Amino acid sequence: MRIPSRAERAMMDRRDFLGAIAVGLTAGPTAHANRSAMTRPYDGRNVILIRFGGGVRRQETIDADASYAPFLKNVLAPQGVLFPQMQITDAPGIVTSHGEGTLNILTGKYDVYRDIDGRLLGARFEAKVPTLFEALRKAYDVPTSQALIINGEDRIDEEFYSFSNHHLFGVDYRSSVLSLYRFKLHLLRRDLEQGRYSGRQEPEKRQELRRLEQLDRRARDVAFRSPEIDHFWDQWAAYYGRSGLVNPRGDRLLCELALRALRTLRPRLMLINFNDPDYVHWGNPSHYTRGVTIIDESLQRIHQAVEADDFYRGRTVFVVVPDCGRDNNPLVAVPYQHHFNSAHARRIFAVLWGPGIDRGRIVDRPVEQCQIAATVSALMGFEMPYAEGQPLAEAFA
Ligand SMILES: [Zn+2]
Repeated sequence: MRIPSRAERAMMDRRDFLGAIAVGLTAGPTAHANRSAMTRPYDGRNVILIRFGGGVRRQETIDADASYAPFLKNVLAPQGVLFPQMQITDAPGIVTSHGEGTLNILTGKYDVYRDIDGRLLGARFEAKVPTLFEALRKAYDVPTSQALIINGEDRIDEEFYSFSNHHLFGVDYRSSVLSLYRFKLHLLRRDLEQGRYSGRQEPEKRQELRRLEQLDRRARDVAFRSPEIDHFWDQWAAYYGRSGLVNPRGDRLLCELALRALRTLRPRLMLINFNDPDYVHWGNPSHYTRGVTIIDESLQRIHQAVEADDFYRGRTVFVVVPDCGRDNNPLVAVPYQHHFNSAHARRIFAVLWGPGIDRGRIVDRPVEQCQIAATVSALMGFEMPYAEGQPLAEAFA
């Protein structure tokens, strides 16, 4: 396929631009004029969204002299496009935190979120407009096992961002989530199916399964089974055992899940919710800088895996973006301990790399986090009608 040149783009308005990209993706020898939109096979680029998360600052990541993310800063960004001034808008009710930032990225809309269980610091949010996964799966025949979110083990609230409550989208177009929570659910279900427990143990285990399932108020999501995902967890259990303790932990676990998913599930769109730098909330600065480095190493490994795989090489775009920034408060011992809606907590960045993306470009002007969704939809060739942001057109080659 081909993306219009800058000069051509200047002649188009946004709708034409998106249309041209979508046509470029689907036209060609394999396109079939009579195929309905619902069953169109997807033959476009794959996108790997790296949430460089848990809140990170530009200082420790993309800035010149103090990066703890050398692969991102010295390899990926120089071969792609860097937006060093991406920000989260400063508007009433727009919070700079992990759940909110993730949903800004996934929906392309800044919104005011409240915990659906009414907990003060809860982050169990429901998106009101469709996520990227829903829009992709509505436009193309992409199974839920190829629309993946990889989640951390202690972020149970974030398990439930896999679909919105929009009446035209929602659970039928949800993504699948891979996390230790899902693994535990899978093991319990398998064990009960296979009659592993007997006597008094059996009802206890059924109770435990119900308890785990009820962590999701939207239980339809966890109750849904995908044979491909079940197979993924069976293989995981065969390799790492059942304890959940042998496998790597924290963001290294997310990297391992992502690498295995690339090999076996072949995702078209995958979001990895890295989070380790956020442990600095407890007050230890090295948790933060080490967390940044762990994400950077994970990014490098995933990038290497893509480059070594014929299915992904030359067809896969990386989009790296934090969920939020962090404070820069010189009056406290660890200036970046929290992310309390300060100006610095709104300052993030984005790096795009891959086919169709320009190389060696720095777009040094303010852009918005909510533009990521429109950009991914343009790269993959589907509409995000409820996203507020325009695509980051300067990223395209
Ligand atoms: Zn935090």
